[in-house]
Amino acid sequence: MKILLIGAGGREHSLAWKIDQSPLVKTLYCAPGNPGMAAHGTCIDIADSDVEALAGFAKEKSVDLVVVGPEAPLAAGIADRLARDGIPCFGPSRKAAQIETSKAYLKDLCAEFDIPTARYGTFTHADAAKQYLAKMTAPYVIKASGLAAGKGVVIAETIDEAHGAIDSMLGGQFGSASSQIVIEEFMTGEEASFFVITDGTRAVKMIGAQDHKRAFDGDTGPNTGGMGAYSPAPVFTPEIEQLTMERIIEPTIKAMRARGTPYVGVLYAGLMVTKDGPKLIEYNARFGDPECQVMMRRMQSDIVPVLLAAAKGDLSGKSFTWSEEAAALVVYAAKGYPGAYEKGSEIRNIGAAEAIPGVEVFQAGTRAKGVHLLSNGGRVLNITATGKDGREAVERAYEAIRLIDWPDGYFRTDIGWRMLARDA
Ligand code: ATP
Repeated sequence: MKILLIGAGGREHSLAWKIDQSPLVKTLYCAPGNPGMAAHGTCIDIADSDVEALAGFAKEKSVDLVVVGPEAPLAAGIADRLARDGIPCFGPSRKAAQIETSKAYLKDLCAEFDIPTARYGTFTHADAAKQYLAKMTAPYVIKASGLAAGKGVVIAETIDEAHGAIDSMLGGQFGSASSQIVIEEFMTGEEASFFVITDGTRAVKMIGAQDHKRAFDGDTGPNTGGMGAYSPAPVFTPEIEQLTMERIIEPTIKAMRARGTPYVGVLYAGLMVTKDGPKLIEYNARFGDPECQVMMRRMQSDIVPVLLAAAKGDLSGKSFTWSEEAAALVVYAAKGYPGAYEKGSEIRNIGAAEAIPGVEVFQAGTRAKGVHLLSNGGRVLNITATGKDGREAVERAYEAIRLIDWPDGYFRTDIGWRMLARDA
């Protein structure tokens, strides 16, 4: 069969690596792809947000399945567009993707269907928002309702800071994405990510993973797209998994169907594991970038039959098998990221890193120039490793990253610290 995979990050490189192992796949196209993905498929120069060009390409090549990595094409309606041509798409419709693209939509869905989440209010006027805030206690959680590239959440320690966030968001800080805001109760606990694949009715479970969103050691510094990850996530016990399925995932799938917008694709639950059980922080309509990579490293079964069955609306009888081994990921980012950074410096010795047992390097912000590999983004390389336990996986990833010659990069040195502390 022929597959078109949309995206160009580490998440998509790991998906291309996994899809390429499937005996069912004859041709893999990646749009736009990256130099690492070129080892697994043919890269096509179409931007991930160019829905018309992507759909045109899929039709011209008679692809059997389109797999969507990032959220931008989903928000732009790629699944709806492909449905018109009868091309199976792994990814939700634009309306179903609102579960990620509108926090107000999601919170209302949780309230209507009794899905555990933080108490909240939604506002379009600052006065009403501040009145609501007066009844809450610090820290205050203020969110732009729409997509704000991961920058639309403020956790304010003081009421003045909270008022400032309300005024700037409703004052147009993120354009229409912050014309409506959500104020939430602050939840205390440990965060974890959990993923299921759904056909709109049934769900196939994946596994738990944890990522590190902050730029610097000790989970300090600004938020990023993720600086590392690991799986399994010790906080995500079988009991928590069962509660998550019963209280959060299954009611959500039912709710989306009841609303006439069945959700097809991967449902990524960002969870807070609290003393009262798992509570939903947010959903994403796609794989988490670092979490996807560690999951692909642990997945033993073929991913393609499950993606295809979900896209075609019938997952009955499908499941995954997972390796007992742990997987870890350390991101090699450009110095300065997530602020300003340089592009275009040469990266050498990836081969030496990959010679370490269990190591695969997935590329993200890279560009090929002849035989040379140059940096071309903020998060540049993803060094993944498997091992008999989390400690071995983390050690191998660090041994590998230290062999890579890239003076313009930096990485966190404490990926997996929570897991390692728990094990100890
Ligand atoms: P992402 O970049 O992960 O998509 P986002 O901008 O969509 O993030 P959220 O995931 O809703 O925003 O929140 C970002 C982070 O803020 C969460 O990972 C969590 O650490 C923290 N957070 C959000 N809501 C709450 C809450 N109610 N209580 C405590 N912490 C919260």
